Amino acid sequence: INILAIESSCDETSASIISNGKILNNIVATQSVHEKYGGVVPELASRAHQQHLIPVIHEAITEAGIAHEELSAVAFTRGPGLMGSLMVGVSFAKSFAYALDIPLIDVNHMQAHILAHFIDDPKPAFPFICLTVSGGHTQLVLVKDYLEMEVIGETLDDAVGEAFDKTAKLLGLPYPGGPLVDKYAKEGNPQAFQFPLSEMPGLNYSFSGIKTAVLYFLRDRLKEDADFITENMADICASVQFTLIKMLMQKLKRAAREHKVKEIAIAGGVSANSGLRAELNRLAGELGWNVYVPKFEYCTDNAAMIAMAAHYKYLKGAFCGLDVSPVAKMKL
Ligand code: ATP
Ligand code: MG
Ligand code: FE
Repeated sequence: INILAIESSCDETSASIISNGKILNNIVATQSVHEKYGGVVPELASRAHQQHLIPVIHEAITEAGIAHEELSAVAFTRGPGLMGSLMVGVSFAKSFAYALDIPLIDVNHMQAHILAHFIDDPKPAFPFICLTVSGGHTQLVLVKDYLEMEVIGETLDDAVGEAFDKTAKLLGLPYPGGPLVDKYAKEGNPQAFQFPLSEMPGLNYSFSGIKTAVLYFLRDRLKEDADFITENMADICASVQFTLIKMLMQKLKRAAREHKVKEIAIAGGVSANSGLRAELNRLAGELGWNVYVPKFEYCTDNAAMIAMAAHYKYLKGAFCGLDVSPVAKMKL
């Protein structure tokens, strides 16, 4: 079974080939046009996908050394994501599947972030809890099987990645700021400044409060000292990051306890955060968890995770028709 998978939900254009469940490659073209705007501009993202998609797919297919006739199916991200961006991938996938007369597989991007755990060893055992933390989502998911997942908690407002990126923006750092906050935090004191922990009912999260707290905190300090940010960059980043991780871990611990699960995974772009990884490993020792963190290139958006999801759907014969359309707010 050889499957071509395409990811185009946001600002990464990616293609991957999976052969009998083994990822052969993962080609990613990151869009840099958005940097100067401090965030993803949807219309520019769609155009960049149109430019990058064919070269990226061509590279994946030729590098894998697989002829078009040897492809068993074409998979694509159906949602969630930006409508225009999704449209580019969906349209290409449909035409390609039609031209080659092979099945088409639609993949949920958030399910794929979780299935990235099955690309390499060690793999989590079912049931496990996955904390998916990305630019658009923050979810606690009870994963019962490859394609059987239940959201047991999620953010009621902003995603944690947004909180990282907005903090970075307030600090004058370029987009996407999450990785930079992580970098500065390594040199800072996480106890230097205190930010409020917002408590939501059950296993839910809220990250909009901290963004406002950081805004007012910086405004007040800058009044006293115009160089406050440059002089305290590392401490501010460390303190905000510490607060965000603490909020994430509180509910993760509760979820693990309530569902009596010790297999714990993290997924999505923010799972690249070094502070989050360190805290997760510390908790693993303390609570006897087995923790799973995907390889860096499989944390942020990539087509290998779409290919992995497509592989399991292929085995179940879960194909879609040529009349399929993208869904911007697709549920897990
Ligand atoms: P979604 O998957 O919800 O549709 P997305 O695809 O934009 O959203 P990802 O590409 O999975 O999200 O993740 C991007 C997010 O991860 C950005 O908010 C980015 O700042 C954040 N991020 C990446 N690396 C780090 C890091 N080391 N520390 C903190 N945040 C990070
Ligand atoms: Mg991205
Ligand atoms: Fe993503």
